[in-house]
Amino acid sequence: MQTIEQPTKETVLQTWNKRPLIISGPCSAETEEQVLATAKALAATGKVDMIRAGIWKPRTKPGMFEGIGAKGLPWLQQAKKLTGLPTTVEVANGKQVQDALTFDVDVLWIGARTTVNPFSVQEVADALRGVDVPVLIKNPINPDLELWSGAVERVARAGIKQIGLIHRGFHTYGNTEYRNAPMWHLAIEMKLRNPEMMIINDPSHISGRRDNLSEIMQKAIDLDYDGLMIESHIDPDKAWSDAKQQVTPERLNEILEKIIWRREDVNSEEYHAALEKLRQQINHLDDELMQILSQRMRIAEQIGQYKKENNITILQTNRWNEIIEKAFAKGDRIGLSKEFIMKYFDAVHMESINHQKKVMDA
Ligand code: PEP
Ligand code: MN
Repeated sequence: MQTIEQPTKETVLQTWNKRPLIISGPCSAETEEQVLATAKALAATGKVDMIRAGIWKPRTKPGMFEGIGAKGLPWLQQAKKLTGLPTTVEVANGKQVQDALTFDVDVLWIGARTTVNPFSVQEVADALRGVDVPVLIKNPINPDLELWSGAVERVARAGIKQIGLIHRGFHTYGNTEYRNAPMWHLAIEMKLRNPEMMIINDPSHISGRRDNLSEIMQKAIDLDYDGLMIESHIDPDKAWSDAKQQVTPERLNEILEKIIWRREDVNSEEYHAALEKLRQQINHLDDELMQILSQRMRIAEQIGQYKKENNITILQTNRWNEIIEKAFAKGDRIGLSKEFIMKYFDAVHMESINHQKKVMDA
């Protein structure tokens, strides 16, 4: 039998630094056969760098499948032995950290339900003190960057050198398109706050379904994410957790095949020069737009003055409806969406009213 090279601290670090970093595996480890079959099929794609599996599952209601527990750790050890791929599991308390490390899990991750709780994050961080293991931190369930940053700080203060971020979307009440709203701007803001930290996208928990995984993945790659964590199961329909969002390793292979990866040749001088020129043009246009907006506000102030002298109300609905209808029609012709026109005119209108009000109150 061919011997498969096993990950070492050094090679795990190389994997950690690979771009794009692709992590995949089942939502939950269920049986030894399921873990091994999934891991082998994922490895066979040649596109997966690390195997994930949930061993302890934080569930909303008791009685749901709460994970197989430490009993599943040897299965992951075996999956690593058979594939040569490093493994990662979610940890939510000190005991889980110890158990995972005892069974040679290579990378740990903190789940979204744990990131929201500073007590739990601190307990995990305390268990990590003096340990050399990379840690991924998922965004908290609720859209609060301070909680996410707080978790990063706690883990960093425990002495962990390799910390990465996972963007898995945020809970919003009544949201239907996604299981968890991506709120891309929050993830981008987090990346801006931590420029040297890798950020990977978890389309599975954002989507909650199979049909729009690739769309979310492509968006993440277009936004320069460092990698992806996608749930994959050998028999998704029969999965004990998150069945609707898991795909077979074969399907994952197809999806990854179709992703358009960013060009790697970002060092090309020609590319930089072209980009720089376009950015200059955008700066120039933005500047002009601001000048024009400022002129518009000066005119609004003059109208305000006129209304004041003639005792007319600021808000004149008819006039406003007329403006917005015209703008929709024009926007349609020149390629600006109705949604944008609405937001833009609302903002301009508000600013305009404020300027007029200042004049009238003066
Ligand atoms: C998971 O990765 O299976 C999981 C529980 O994710 P999250 O913490 O993002 O809900
Ligand atoms: Mn899951």
